[in-house]
This record gives sequence, structure tokens and C-alpha cells, in this order.
Amino acid sequence: SGLGRIIDGKALSESIRADVARRARELAARGVVPGLAVVLVGDNPASQVYVRNKAAACEKAGLHSRVLRLAADISEQALLEVVQELNRDPAVHGILVQLPLPPHMDAAKVIETIAADKDVDGFHVSNAGLLMTGKPLFRPCTPYGIMKILESEQVALRGAEAVVVGASNIVGKPMAMLLLAAGATVTLCNSKTRDLGTQTRRADVLVVATGKPGIVTGDMIKPGATVIDVGINRNADGKLVGDVDFESARRVAGAITPVPGGVGPMTIAMLLVNTLEAAERSLQH
Ligand code: NDP
Repeated sequence: SGLGRIIDGKALSESIRADVARRARELAARGVVPGLAVVLVGDNPASQVYVRNKAAACEKAGLHSRVLRLAADISEQALLEVVQELNRDPAVHGILVQLPLPPHMDAAKVIETIAADKDVDGFHVSNAGLLMTGKPLFRPCTPYGIMKILESEQVALRGAEAVVVGASNIVGKPMAMLLLAAGATVTLCNSKTRDLGTQTRRADVLVVATGKPGIVTGDMIKPGATVIDVGINRNADGKLVGDVDFESARRVAGAITPVPGGVGPMTIAMLLVNTLEAAERSLQH
């Protein structure tokens, strides 16, 4: 019975970025240029692309960005000192340490060193706790962007069955919390889930964030469901693919995000929103 609608995350991200640019101009008129500091340790090629894209998106929206590139063998202590200096810098409203960090570093310790009110990724335990207790300060960018997609698609969440596949601290868990806060009945699946299809087939809203290409196929989707594919994987021909088998899923879903062009652009847009709002809050004190 036809094909599910393809959700245009790129178009939505552009309208959000235009709104950020407008609010950034208002702030600039009041003497504050929102500033994001991005710390990149080592030369992971994917991280380099992400950092470059984040900096470019900032400049385009009228935000100031500063990229600090540190050698892969920098000591953890030296990295913590860089973060502490950014914490004290009044021109920096948002701080992001690009993950993954080299194996000799304790990523949690580094993230916990970022001032919670500059933690625009929302990964600090204090921000995770605020989200869990219903008083979020910064929402992690990927799940926040997905909530904006669901809002823009006018997907009803109150009382809806939401199933999240993948339970990482940066995507799956905060996604579950945001859906719960919106009134959905949430199921959170992980690699130990017995018979994944039994869970996913109940979902009115299905979010998949595992890093396993094709883990969700059309036969695992409830007809008419909204399917959000977070995965970014490269297949054998070097093409970007999600975690959902797009062709079979589209024959069943009511609407589905593509990869690329779905969740990815929204993640960057929400990083700009978080940075802008940190700068707006800095004017309040
Ligand atoms: P992680 O590797 O940190 O977490 C993966 C999660 O998926 C874990 O909870 C794991 O379970 C679960 N999982 C793995 N295999 C299965 C399975 N067979 N069935 C059910 N659950 C499973 O990944 P991230 O959350 O960081 O990222 C997930 C994907 O999203 C990646 O492809 C990543 O590239 C992409 N991503 C995309 C972003 C975007 O902007 N579009 C942003 C961030 C990530 P367990 O807990 O049991 O190990």
C-alpha cells in the first residue's frame, strides 16, 4: 500500500539554523557573540570531518567557533587543563570534546571536567541527571534533534508506544528519557534483547541507534509507524547507510528518515541551538 514518506531532516535543520542565525544577530546587537570551543584530540578521520562540519555550521549561523587540535599523545592532565581554561573563558559559551578520545584517557573524567553550564553535548552526569529528573538544561543533540523531527511531523507522543533500539549514554538512553517526558510508553532495547522484532513491531515510533546496518527490516515494523534511523555506517561500496533496511522499511512505515539527510543534519543544528541558548543564559547573570 504505497511507500512511507521520506522525512527531510536537511530542510528542517536549515530552518532551525536560520532561526539560530536570527537569534545570534539579536545577541550580537547586545554585545555577545555566541562562542563554541571544540576540542579534537588526535587525528581520527571521522572525528576530523565532524569537527570541520560543526565549525562550518557555527560560522554560517554567526556563532564564533574555536577548534583546539591536540596531539593524540597529549596527557590526560594536559587535556583537563585545556578544558578548565575554556571553562573560565567568558567568550566561550559551549565546550565540546569530540569523542572518541585516545585509549589512555578516561572520557568520563574529561566530560565531568567541562562546566555543566557549558556542556552543549549534554553528556555531563549533571546534565544527564537533570534530564532524567525532568529539568533538562542541555539535551543531547541527537535525541533533541529527533524530538524536533517528531514535533515537525506532528507525531502524537502522549500514550504512544515508543521503542528505542540501542541504549548508549549519548543517543539511546537520553532518547528514551525525552520520549518518556513527552508522555510515550517507552521500551529501551539493547544487544541482549530477546527477539527484537517482538518489541519493534509494537512501536508507533521506532528509533534505531545501534551502529548495526540493516538490523531493522520491514517485517519488524508496524504498518504506519514513524521510523527514525540514527545509524551512520559505511557499506561495502563505501556508501553511507543507516541501521534500518531502508527499502523494505519504507514499504511498511508511515514516514521514515533517510541516511544521509535525516537525523545527521539535525544533530548539528541542535548543537547550534544549545550553544546559542548557553550564550543567551550568560546574559541573564
Ligand atoms: P554505541 O555503540 O555506543 O551503542 C550501541 C547500542 O546499540 C548499545 O546499547 C548496544 O547494546 C545496542 N545494540 C548493539 N547491537 C544490538 C542488537 N543486535 N540489538 C539491539 N541493540 C543492539 O553507539 P551510539 O549510540 O553511539 O551510536 C549508534 C549509531 O548511531 C552509530 O551508527 C553511530 O554512528 C550513529 N550516530 C549517529 C549520530 C547522528 O548524528 N546521526 C550521532 C551519534 C551516533 P548494549 O548496550 O547491550 O551493548
